[in-house]
Amino acid sequence: MAKRTTTFEYAPAPESRAIVDIKPSYGLFVNGEFVDGHGKAFKTVNPATEEVLAEIAEADDHDVDLAVKAARRAYDRVWSKMPGSERAKYLYRIARIIAERSRELAVLESIDNGKPIKESRDVDVPIVSAHFFYYAGWADKLKYAGYGEQPLGVAAQIIPWNFPLLMLAWKIAPALACGNTVVLKPAETTPLTALLFAEICQQADLPPGVVNIVTGAGGTGQAMVAHPDVDKVAFTGSTDVGKAIARTIAGTDKRVTLELGGKAANIVFDDAPIDQAVEGIVNGIFFNQGHVCCAGSRLLVQESVAEDVLHRLKRRMATLRLGDPLDKNTDVGAINSAEQLARIRELSAVGEAEGAERWSAPCELPSHGYWFAPTIFTDVTQAHRIAREEVFGPVLSVLTFRTPAEAVAKANNTPYGLSAGIWTDKGSRILKMANQLRAGVVWANTFNKFDPASPFGGYKESGYGREGGRHGLEAYLR
Ligand code: NDP
Repeated sequence: MAKRTTTFEYAPAPESRAIVDIKPSYGLFVNGEFVDGHGKAFKTVNPATEEVLAEIAEADDHDVDLAVKAARRAYDRVWSKMPGSERAKYLYRIARIIAERSRELAVLESIDNGKPIKESRDVDVPIVSAHFFYYAGWADKLKYAGYGEQPLGVAAQIIPWNFPLLMLAWKIAPALACGNTVVLKPAETTPLTALLFAEICQQADLPPGVVNIVTGAGGTGQAMVAHPDVDKVAFTGSTDVGKAIARTIAGTDKRVTLELGGKAANIVFDDAPIDQAVEGIVNGIFFNQGHVCCAGSRLLVQESVAEDVLHRLKRRMATLRLGDPLDKNTDVGAINSAEQLARIRELSAVGEAEGAERWSAPCELPSHGYWFAPTIFTDVTQAHRIAREEVFGPVLSVLTFRTPAEAVAKANNTPYGLSAGIWTDKGSRILKMANQLRAGVVWANTFNKFDPASPFGGYKESGYGREGGRHGLEAYLR
C-alpha cells in the first residue's frame, strides 16, 4: 500500500485469492465445451504485479469459423425456436449463479484487470447479475417493446478491458433474451472472467453453442466481424477500431452497434453543493482508474468558485488510497496494461509541453506493476490535446466558464458525445442544460450511475445504438 498524507493509516485488508482457481492455460469455449485453439497462445498478466496468470488460446480464422458454426446450429435448432418464457429461465439461472459466485468473480476481475476490489465487488458484479435479471424479464414480453419480435441470428460481440464482465453482460444478456446466439471475444488483457462466465453457462445447462467465447487479439476480432455468417456485430472500444469495423461491414446486411470513446464534461455551477460536487468529480475521473468511456475527464467549473473547488479537490485527492487492488481500502488500482500506461504518460507529457499545469496527488507508486498517480491539469485550453483526446486514465483536465451558454458551448466542443454531468442547486437549470448538451447520458448531481433499465450510448464519434433498458432490445430484434 502506498504512503499518503492522512490523519491516520488504514491497516491492510486484503481480500483472499483462495476463492479463485486460475488454471495454467485456457482453451476456447465452443459449442458448450472448452477446446484447444488452432492458433498461438498468449499470456495474461496481473497488472498490479506483472505476474503471469495464465496462457490463453488465440483463436484464428478457423476457430472463429467453428464458433460461428456452433452458434448458427444452436440458433437454428434450439434457441430461436424456444419460447421466450423458457429462454428467461436460463437467464434467471445465470443471474442467480453470478450472484452466488459474486466474490469469486470480483476477485478474479480485480486480479486480471487491476481494478479495486471494492469496485468489482460493489459495482461491476452486482450490475452484471442485475443485467441478466433485467433482460430475463423481457424475454417473454418482446412484443410489448416495440422493436419487432424476431431475433437477428448470430451476434459477434467484441468487448474492451475496462469492464470485462460488465461489458460481457451488456452484450450477452439482451442478445440471448431476444433469441440470438453469440460469439464473444473478451479483450486480450482481460480474458479470465469471460472464461469463468463460460463455466457458469455450463453450470446453468445452457444449450451448447448459444454462448461461445473466443479469446484472442485484434485479428480474432477482425475475423469475427468479417465472417459471412454473422448477422450482427456489437462492439465497445476505441473510435479507430469502431471505424474499421464500420468499413468492414459496409455493403453487407449485417446490423451493427458501436459504443466508442468519450470526453465528457462534468459541469460545476457556483450554486452547486461543493463538497458533493468534489465527490462527484473524484468519482467521475478516478473511478476504475479513469478507464471509463463515459468518465468526466473535462471538469468545467464556474470561474467564481474555481479556486475553492480546486482547493477542496486537491485536498480530497490527497486522501485517495492507491495500491493493491485486492485491498478492500484501495480507491485507485493498477493501470490495465503497459501499453495503456505508456499512452497516459505520453498524453500527460503533451499536456505539460502544451503549457497546462500538472498536479498529482502525493502518493508512492508500487515498484512492480503499472501505476499512475491521480492527476489534474489546470490552465487547460480547449485546443490542448488533453482537452480533446481520450486519455483513458486518472487524468483530469480543468477548464472554467462564466455563463451557462459558455458551459454548453465548451461541453459540446468535442468530437464525442457520450455523457455529461451537471452540478447545480436549480432543477430548471438542470433541465435546460440537459436539453442543450449533445450527450447520450446526462447525470445531474451525480456521476457514473448505471442501471440495467437505463439506456446508454452516444452521439457523434461516441458511436451509435443503445445498450440497456427497453432501448437495448432494438439492437437484437427485427
Ligand atoms: P481497442 O478498440 O483496440 O479494443 C477493443 C476490443 O476490440 C478488444 O477486444 C480488441 O482486442 C478488439 N479489436 C482490436 N482491433 C480490432 C479490429 N481491427 N477488429 C475487431 N476487433 C478489434 O482498444 P484498446 O484496448 O487498443 O485501447 C485503446 C484506446 O481505446 C484507449 O486508450 C481508450 O482511449 C479507448 N478505449 C475506449 C473504450 C470504451 O469503452 N469506449 C474501451 C477501451 C478502449 P484486443 O484487446 O485483444 O486488442
